[in-house]
Amino acid sequence: MTTAQPQTSDRSVGPVSKPAAEPPIYMDYAATCPVDPRVLDAMLPYFTEKFGNAASRTHSYGWVAEEAVEIARERIAGVLGASAKEITFTSGATESNNLAIKGVAEYLADKGRHIVTCVTEHKAVLDPCKYLERKGYDVTILGVGADGRVDPQAVADAIRDDTILVSIMFANNETGVVHPVADIGRICRERGVLFHTDATQAFGKIPIDVDAMRIDLLSMSAHKIYGPKGVGALYLRRRRPRVRVVPLLHGGGHERGNRSGTLAVPLIVGFGEAARIAAETMEEESARILALREHMRRRIEDEIPEVVINGSVEHRLPGTLNVSFKYIEGESLIMGLRGVAVSSGSACTSASLEPSYVLRAMGLDDELAHSSLRMCIGRPTTREEVDRVVDMLKARVERLREMSPLWEMVQEGIDLSSIEWTAH
Ligand SMILES: *Cc1c(COP(=O)(O)O)cnc(C)c1O
Repeated sequence: MTTAQPQTSDRSVGPVSKPAAEPPIYMDYAATCPVDPRVLDAMLPYFTEKFGNAASRTHSYGWVAEEAVEIARERIAGVLGASAKEITFTSGATESNNLAIKGVAEYLADKGRHIVTCVTEHKAVLDPCKYLERKGYDVTILGVGADGRVDPQAVADAIRDDTILVSIMFANNETGVVHPVADIGRICRERGVLFHTDATQAFGKIPIDVDAMRIDLLSMSAHKIYGPKGVGALYLRRRRPRVRVVPLLHGGGHERGNRSGTLAVPLIVGFGEAARIAAETMEEESARILALREHMRRRIEDEIPEVVINGSVEHRLPGTLNVSFKYIEGESLIMGLRGVAVSSGSACTSASLEPSYVLRAMGLDDELAHSSLRMCIGRPTTREEVDRVVDMLKARVERLREMSPLWEMVQEGIDLSSIEWTAH
């Protein structure tokens, strides 16, 4: 093509535009995921020609939407070994957790007002519990071991005559540590206490069977499994025991009265397709992702001195790694890693510079908690990306340590714990 204009970069949009930088390598899949192209394709018709309200019973627009919703419901239930009737659609896992915890608490208020949860839960579990405490409920918050796991015996010991609910997450969002869910489920069932699990990180990534694990309520979110943001679900067991909740939203009586509001049909269709893909590819994908994570873990441990892998390596989601780099501040590490999108601590608390409460609960001191990064490998991640990230990390850690007086002292063999720091 010939033009009279001087040649400019095809990325240039004006006289002052800078050359576009390559986007950073995304390794924050525990925070959110891109929508899988197959999911987007499945959703698109439900924004336009198939736009009906799933509650419209009098014409085919409504029937088409309702049918799509029911297929999605079945697919999601299938991942859990549940039945479609046990799935209530919500706006995401935050709402699912609120509905589960506040909904059970209100429904069973006459039976008891004691709830058991764990210190490393997501804020979307801890904050509803705090809210209930202000309303006169009693909440026991269990600690975790250095491996990040709650001890099932501690759950058993915490249950009292007035306990109505145990809420322990399936897998932790900051560390990827997987709790002994089946053991906790067995204890709760034996004691006649409902068991809720926030499975947002585990759903679609590792096998879940609500019957075998004796789970009564389970929270999920589409955007953590390559579905759209703004849709999630709550599993509510229908038989032995039948779980009832007081709804958060009152209105048209949608979702068996559990969650009123016009169903977000395109989002639900996307969630269903994301669940279908997750179930179909789980075995193969988790093996591939685990191999990449282990490659990354080994390279980090072999090539970067003084690192700590946080949380159990054995009981862990395939894709998540949480690493502390001693004598380095996590925030300055991230600032220097422009080419990588990772988070220090959880995305939800990184607005504040408080050290991660999850890592603190595992016994890390403030400094070590401050020096941690969470790296997650996802469906799109390649081995080349993993290697580039480790290379960048290595270079950045070396550079920061070169500038660190603490590191210099460590190199000289000075025991830092023996030093008495004084302010001048
Ligand atoms: C992301 C996440 C949530 C919140 O889910 P939303 O759908 O974004 O509200 C809750 N719990 C855990 C463990 C999560 O990872």
